[in-house]
Amino acid sequence: MIPGDGIGIEVTEATEPLLIELAAAHDVEIETTWFDWGSERYLEEGALMPDDGLETLKEFDAILLGAVGHPDVPDHVTLRNLRLPITKGFNQHICKRPSYLFDGVESPLRGYEGGDIDLVVYRQNTEGEYADVGGREHQGFGNEVAVQSAVYTREGTEAIVRAAFEAATERSGKLTNITKSNAQAYGMVFWDEIVEEVSEEYPDITVERLLVDAGSMDFVRRPNEFDVVVASNLFGDILTDIGGIISGSLGMAPSTNINPSGEFPSMFEPVHGSAFDIMGEGIANPVGMLLSMSLMFEHLEEDDLAETLWDGVGAQLADSDAPRTPDIGGSATTLDVVGDLEERLLE
Ligand code: NAD
Ligand code: MN
Repeated sequence: MIPGDGIGIEVTEATEPLLIELAAAHDVEIETTWFDWGSERYLEEGALMPDDGLETLKEFDAILLGAVGHPDVPDHVTLRNLRLPITKGFNQHICKRPSYLFDGVESPLRGYEGGDIDLVVYRQNTEGEYADVGGREHQGFGNEVAVQSAVYTREGTEAIVRAAFEAATERSGKLTNITKSNAQAYGMVFWDEIVEEVSEEYPDITVERLLVDAGSMDFVRRPNEFDVVVASNLFGDILTDIGGIISGSLGMAPSTNINPSGEFPSMFEPVHGSAFDIMGEGIANPVGMLLSMSLMFEHLEEDDLAETLWDGVGAQLADSDAPRTPDIGGSATTLDVVGDLEERLLE
């Protein structure tokens, strides 16, 4: 457990007891170890996590991360010194992020009801635009240059593309490849070629191509027509915030960071960040974390638990009398929501 900062801590602490009790009710014993890695540690000791952090994490079956980000620490410091070292260090190439509009939840888009939005984004998670490659220099007097490179490897690209095709096979047989190949003629054209190559192994899958500007528009205009989407690290990041809000709230969107070889642990976390605007108020929506826990159970092949938790959250959201947090129109606290779910699932 790495709760991190802000509402990351709030949703992690609020939901962990339920995770353990629910598993126990299914005869699964979960042992958790907590790490106080994050911005407070950085402010006191100069590092978000210890030097041997990855060595420590390597021994675990799964990692749950809350979120990191602190008003007194630059965002590029928090992101590049905790989440990225873990995703890159453990070859967690695959970031799978479903967007699902539950019954009883209102989308800010007109005319969509429960189940109408049901898509999953496969985001490349270890390289692309988030490769730590670049530099800055002063050129002569008064001018300055900054270079930020994107990196696409065959291994990293094939891993995400293959995972997306596999998912499309399990789902409706349709895959949308969202890129910016018109402007990015090296990395994105390489990416498109790999999609083309892998598609030959999946003749039954229909592949749709969109540029990310139009694709973002279509997430708003016709989200019901998407099923499996594959995108680069940055574009997948942006598209999944849109996917979160059109499904009711960013606070309900779950995320997985999968190491496809199984050599290293995978990591599960809500899509949202530490939310400076509501931190400390106790009103963060715990659903993103709860659904991420469900996806963790699925990854650990505890399908019963995965389904029980997912369906329990769904039933709670569908019940107009159940407590809900302000982001989805209620006035309940994080703990009210978790307590109510606990009663539904355990009593
Ligand atoms: P954010 O996701 O923290 O918040 C965006 C908006 O969504 C805010 O209005 C917030 O109140 C709302 N929101 C998010 N989660 C919610 C929840 N569970 N319940 C109710 N409302 C919720 O994004 P931001 O404001 O751009 O970033 C804040 C900090 O978090 C920054 O430091 C950023 O770098 C960091 N961040 C970290 C991660 C991560 O750790 N994986 C991801 C995104 C942002
Ligand atoms: Mn994001």
